[in-house]
Amino acid sequence: MSEKECYEYFKSIRWSDNKGSPICPSCGSASSRYFIESRLQYRCKDCFHTFSVTSETIFHSHNLDFKVILLAIVIFSNATKGISALQLSRDLDVQYKTAWVLSHKIRESLMERNLDEKLSGVVEMDGVYVGNYIKPANNIKDRIDRRKAFKPNKRVIISLRERNLLGSGAGKTKTFILRSENNVDIKAIAKSHIAPNSEIHTDENSAYDDLLAHYDLKRVNHQIEYSGLNGENNNQSESFNARFRRLQYG
Ligand SMILES: [Zn+2]
Repeated sequence: MSEKECYEYFKSIRWSDNKGSPICPSCGSASSRYFIESRLQYRCKDCFHTFSVTSETIFHSHNLDFKVILLAIVIFSNATKGISALQLSRDLDVQYKTAWVLSHKIRESLMERNLDEKLSGVVEMDGVYVGNYIKPANNIKDRIDRRKAFKPNKRVIISLRERNLLGSGAGKTKTFILRSENNVDIKAIAKSHIAPNSEIHTDENSAYDDLLAHYDLKRVNHQIEYSGLNGENNNQSESFNARFRRLQYG
């Protein structure tokens, strides 16, 4: 795609509810405006506000080619195990700083969506511990008991995944960071992010016990099986967490 085609494409996404035709972000007028071609800006004929296709988006005030913006979104979305700013800077052929800001902008927009509606139907929940690795010392007498060591960066990532009712896999996913899997925090997360009367699948960790009072709770005992006799499983959550772990190693 040429830069012009990328610009047109960005426009079609930005103003998708108006068939790609500009809407003034100040007064909402969609009827008339001037196009200032040299600056790729529009001036609203109703309120004389000047705006561009990136106004009020996460890409405003960035002086990037639309080709770079579109490519960044594609590469970022396609990297299921996450992508580092260093790699993105090589792929896009931009400075590290530019790639870093771009990827954070995209993450920020994901977080905004994350706060939207509650998950419902069949929801899986599981935690994965990160930041608890201690590099073993070379000399055996310097090694510490890693079970007892204090790990200040240790956190658990809780993932909530709403199962696709048609087909397989998961639709929406929400993630949270806790210091540990515990009843109080788990209950608070479920209350604000899972609709009442949903079916929740977890493993047998007692931190999920309290959910039984408010939800249809299904448990799977991973010591003996991946999936219970009646389809109890949190495999979607586990697969997400496995990818999260690869992301962390990467
Ligand atoms: Zn206007």
